[in-house]
Amino acid sequence: MKIMAVNAGSSSLKFQLLEMPEESLILSGIIEKIGFNDSMFTVKYSGKKEKEVLSIPNHSVAVELLLKKIVETKVVKSLEEIVGVGHRVVHGAELFKDSVLIDDEVIKKIESVSDLAPLHNPANLTGIFAFKKALPNTKSVAVFDTAFHQTMAQTEYMYSVPYEWYTEYGVRKYGFHGTSHKYVSLRAAELIGKKVEDAKIIVCHIGNGASLCAVKGGKSIDTSMGFTPLSGIAMGTRSGDIDPAIVQYISQKENKTLDQVVSDLNKKSGYLGLSGLSSDSRDLWEAVGKGDKRSILAVEKQAKMIADYIGAYFLVLNGCDAICFTAGIGENASETRALVVEKIKALGVKLDPIQNAKKGIEKIISTEDSKITVLSIPTNEEVMIARDTLRLI
Ligand code: ADP
Repeated sequence: MKIMAVNAGSSSLKFQLLEMPEESLILSGIIEKIGFNDSMFTVKYSGKKEKEVLSIPNHSVAVELLLKKIVETKVVKSLEEIVGVGHRVVHGAELFKDSVLIDDEVIKKIESVSDLAPLHNPANLTGIFAFKKALPNTKSVAVFDTAFHQTMAQTEYMYSVPYEWYTEYGVRKYGFHGTSHKYVSLRAAELIGKKVEDAKIIVCHIGNGASLCAVKGGKSIDTSMGFTPLSGIAMGTRSGDIDPAIVQYISQKENKTLDQVVSDLNKKSGYLGLSGLSSDSRDLWEAVGKGDKRSILAVEKQAKMIADYIGAYFLVLNGCDAICFTAGIGENASETRALVVEKIKALGVKLDPIQNAKKGIEKIISTEDSKITVLSIPTNEEVMIARDTLRLI
């Protein structure tokens, strides 16, 4: 059975066609700069990669081109072989505790929580509408970044602010990257030979955006991102946790609106803000190699924040079987993993330097005598989307 996993952004559409339940990749790619004259359509299949620059005015045209391409490549005989389309949707608020088959009611609900994710949900919906138009008889499923975290207890998800902010406006911790945290925690349990129901796992999803999650018995019990993806640990351009009074102070000092200051926290902070150099981990580690003090500060600060959360989650979980690193930095930056583990050595965690030096592959990177198994696990949100789609159709 063939299932399409889709991640639609405001000007992009990422896609993977998977054979299920085998979970093997048939075709993948990305359409970028939708709405521009020089849109880019990249597709990979059967060991080939094709890239075309052309004008793609909107998501509907993008999806039509994609489906035409899929038929041309002959990876399917007809589009009817695609039995389901799974869409990543960023925010499901408290309305969605699991993935769901998409119908008109679901679309209305996704729209109704769009002010919680004004940049993402409308873009995700554009992808849903485009596929509905092109494949009207194919079932589609929404998979939410927030759904996995809906198992958090009230003490974890509430902020200690006026209670009415929650009841009136939905101010609470939602958490993000749930699809990745779920995939990686399931895989980690398999790799350490434990049933997920019995496992206590800390997942560190460290990419450009980054969050940690404490997973107990397959359920998220706490996570570092909050009401928005701005909180938690320092990221490529996001600050992570700060004292919120800084917002008012900087707005006065720099004569900026609140929107501008929050934008600085989202786009000019983290690696970029501290180093003054780059938001990209590779650039930073290169600069660290040359002794650049602010780059050293940037990577040290992020590692400290990751270690602080690991320490807190070790207590929340009342122990820990596995710590997993995933996403661009977690999977590849051995240097960041080493820095973090150095800061949590009081937990009896030890890295095997030879295993840790390997990048981008699934493996155990701790020593035999480490009290907690440390793993590097490439995330696969598309497989998780395809699994949920298959389950629900
Ligand atoms: P997102 O999906 O949040 O945009 P990714 O998960 O793709 O981000 O992660 C991007 C980050 O991963 C960048 O900081 C990039 O430098 C880092 N990264 C990717 N490959 C490597 C590598 N080989 N070594 C170190 N960092 C890497």
